[in-house]
Amino acid sequence: MKSPIPDYLGRVLEEARPFDSGQPASYIDVLAQADTSRSAVAVATVDGSVYSAGDDEVDFSIQSISKPFVYALAIQDQGLAYVLEKVGVEPSGDAFNRLSLETGTNRPMNPMINAGAVAAHALVVSTNATVDQRVDRILQALSRLAGRQLKVDEAVYAAELKDANRNMGLAYMLKAAGMISCDPQEAVRGYIRQCSINVNVRDLAMMAATLSNGGVQPVSGERVISQESVRQVLSVMTTCGMYNSSGDWIASVGIPAKSGVSGGIIGALPGQLGLAVFSPRLDEKGNSVRGVIMCKQLSNDMGFHMMDVSQIAGASVRSWTATIAGGSKQPNACRQAVAVFELRGAVRFAGAERLTRAVMNEIGKSRPNSGSGPGLGKDAHVCAVMFSFRNTYSLNDVARRLIHENIRRLSTTTNVVVIDPAGVLKMPLDSKQEGEFRQVRVVTSEAEARDHIGGMGCRVVPNEDSL
Ligand code: GLU
Repeated sequence: MKSPIPDYLGRVLEEARPFDSGQPASYIDVLAQADTSRSAVAVATVDGSVYSAGDDEVDFSIQSISKPFVYALAIQDQGLAYVLEKVGVEPSGDAFNRLSLETGTNRPMNPMINAGAVAAHALVVSTNATVDQRVDRILQALSRLAGRQLKVDEAVYAAELKDANRNMGLAYMLKAAGMISCDPQEAVRGYIRQCSINVNVRDLAMMAATLSNGGVQPVSGERVISQESVRQVLSVMTTCGMYNSSGDWIASVGIPAKSGVSGGIIGALPGQLGLAVFSPRLDEKGNSVRGVIMCKQLSNDMGFHMMDVSQIAGASVRSWTATIAGGSKQPNACRQAVAVFELRGAVRFAGAERLTRAVMNEIGKSRPNSGSGPGLGKDAHVCAVMFSFRNTYSLNDVARRLIHENIRRLSTTTNVVVIDPAGVLKMPLDSKQEGEFRQVRVVTSEAEARDHIGGMGCRVVPNEDSL
C-alpha cells in the first residue's frame, strides 16, 4: 500500500500553485532570477520519517531561516544570560533590515531581525573567533541538523556581499553600541555566508523536526541543540519569526515558524513535527505567497494550530478496589481490600493532579489533629495500595515529583506497591531518598504485586463495584 501522506502533500501543493502574486526578492540578483514555478513542501516527524512533494530536491539559500539555529548556537556557546545582554526578545513589528536598537539597552530587539541576527552570529564560538571559525561551526551544526553535509552557495554569497551596505550599517551601529566586539565587516561577511548555505525542503523539515524533538536530531539521535536553547528559539520564532506579520501568522497558522527571503518557511510544532515549504514569490511582508497558503492549509486540515484547545489533559486515571484472596503467606486469604490506581497516557501536571485527587478521595484526608495514621477516605481501610504505570506513556518532571510525593506520604501509613515495567516513575535510588521510600515496593507485573501483598500464588478478586 502507498502512504496517503505524500499524495495529500501533493494536493496541498497543487492547490497553492495558481497563486502567482508577489515577486522573488529583488535586492540579491541571484534570488531575483529564481525560477518562480518552483514549489515544494515537506513534513518530518519527530521519529524521523520525511514526506514531501514538488521540487523537494531543489536547493535554495537558507537566508533568514538560519537565524533561529544560529541563535541556538550563540546560546550554547555563550550561555543564555550573556546572549540576552546583547540581543532582546521583543517583537519589533518593523521591517527585518530596520536600523534600530532598543531604547535604554541598545540591544537589537530580537534575533530574527537582521540587527539581532548579526549580533547573534558574532557570539558563535567566541567573541574573538574568526569568520572561518564561526562559519565552520554554523555549517557543521546545520549539516548535523539536516542529516547531510551542506555547502555555501558562493554565487549567492558574492551577490549579497557586493551590496551589503545596509547590513554593514547595522553592524557598525552594533559595534558603536557595544553589542558586538569583532570587526563589523567580519560579522557581516560571516552572517552573509551563513545566509548563503544551500538547503532543500527535506533538509529544512528535518531541521525543524529537531527543534520539535527538543533538540535531538530524529534520525541520528544526536543532541544538536540543548533543551534550554530549543525553548528560547521556539519562543522567539512564535513571536518574531514571520517578519512583521508574525501576529497574523501565529493567529492563523499557530506554529512557531521562520521565513526567509529566498521563499522558504519552516514550522516546528513542539513534540510533533517539523514542516517546510518553498516557493520564491514573496508577499509585501517578505513571506512566500504559496508557502503561507500551504502552511495555512496544512494547519487547518491537520489540526496543527498550537492554541487549538481540542485535547484537554491527555491522561486518565482509573481507580478501583479489589480483594486479595489466598496466597502462601495467608493461605486462608486475608480477604482484605487493595486500592488500585492506574494512570494512562502522557502525563503532565494535570494528569498527576487527577491521580492525587483520586488518592485523596479514596484513601487520603487525614484525621483531624493527626498528621499520620489511616486517612478518612472511603477506602482508607485497605491493606495495600497498588499504583499501576503499565499504561503510562511518559511523565514529565512535575508529574513525577508530585506522584513521588503522593507515594511517600501514603507509604508512611500504608503498604504501597508500584507496578512500573518501563521505569517511567524513576523511583529515587540514592540512599537518603531510598530511606524515605523503604516501605514502597517497585515491581514489573501485577502477579509480582499480588505476591508481595498477599503471598505467593494469591489472587486478586475485583470487587463488584469495580466491574
Ligand atoms: N541575507 C538576507 C539579509 O540579511 C537575509 C534576509 C532574510 O532572509 O530575511 O538581508
